[in-house]
Amino acid sequence: MSQMSRSVTADLIAELQSAGLRVEAELETRQGGAGPSDAGMLWIDGVPTTVPTSAAYVAQSPYALRADDDGFGIYRGATRLAEARPAPQPNFYKMQTAAGVPYWKIALMHLDSLASTVLQTCAYWGNSDQCQFCGIGLSLAGGRTIAKKTPEMLAEVAVAAKELDGAVDATLTTGSTATPDRGALYVGRCAQAVKDAAGLPVQVQFEPPSDLDVLSQVRDLGVDSVGIHVETFDPQVLARVAPGKARWGIEAYFAAWERAVEVFGPGQVSTYVILGLGEDPAITVESCKRAVEIGVYPFIVPLRPVPGTILGESVPPPRDYVENIYRQVVPHMHQHGLSAATVRAGCARCQACSGMAVLEQGPGGPPAPPGDGRRMLPLQVA
Ligand code: SF4
Repeated sequence: MSQMSRSVTADLIAELQSAGLRVEAELETRQGGAGPSDAGMLWIDGVPTTVPTSAAYVAQSPYALRADDDGFGIYRGATRLAEARPAPQPNFYKMQTAAGVPYWKIALMHLDSLASTVLQTCAYWGNSDQCQFCGIGLSLAGGRTIAKKTPEMLAEVAVAAKELDGAVDATLTTGSTATPDRGALYVGRCAQAVKDAAGLPVQVQFEPPSDLDVLSQVRDLGVDSVGIHVETFDPQVLARVAPGKARWGIEAYFAAWERAVEVFGPGQVSTYVILGLGEDPAITVESCKRAVEIGVYPFIVPLRPVPGTILGESVPPPRDYVENIYRQVVPHMHQHGLSAATVRAGCARCQACSGMAVLEQGPGGPPAPPGDGRRMLPLQVA
């Protein structure tokens, strides 16, 4: 791909992640699940990408996915803008456990990552503490998953996902529990089973444990990377959109991250930072930089409203707003040696939900691994 065409692809992906993609063809999508979801998964000119596909606002998007003589394309009106390759249905989705549980109710493929919400329940769900962007209870209520995945189930599915569908890592998350470890030890045991059986690198995600020694126990289970997600750095916004998380306070996240970086290493600790919740951009940028300085990867994503959630009728932030935040944070990451290329597992390794990697290969960025389209996109110079 030429420099020019990579730049065009980068622009298009950023547009699609804000405007959404009308699907006029078969496409593997994710609806519900913990945290921000609602994603169509596809490769656009070879770049792995997730884009909103099912929310109401997507109907207004000028962009459509259509089948054509060359396979699939992204269209604006009658103009074909890019080649597209929808993620195929994974082979392991046809399989089930000996007890009859379909593998796809245990874990899903997110492009090349196996992903599961190991506890599909959360202490905050269904009460005033619920995170407004979260869809963890929706897929459970819809019968699309099971409430609790056991380590044995996940190990069995991971082996199939690696062998039949080329999974390169596993991303395991959990609803928060009322216990002091907030579910970290259970999701850690699930990771251990996946690693032992399939040998995949694993990221696990959980809330800050009240006892930070839990982080060492999670590492001792073999976990490679952790996600401890503050969601937003603006305290007023956090109190409004994630009141349960806000109760711990943002400083509790920094304390957990500092210990986690000691345990897992710089760059192996990440946090989601959702844009478009009404946050103060200056607080957001400064706090992202503070996180970077202690070795935390701020995985910045535009809000992706999930139909059926409290924020389900919202719309993503404008592409320019998102890109402006990326431009201020990514160079700081370069200076501190943080890059998706060094993350062993999880969302910050995959990058398909964010446009940050679009900027990572600009001047001063790390060298692109050969053959990895997502990290070969150029910096869109401000
Ligand atoms: S802590 Fe919030 S985002 Fe995470 S599962 Fe619970 S309600 Fe969802």
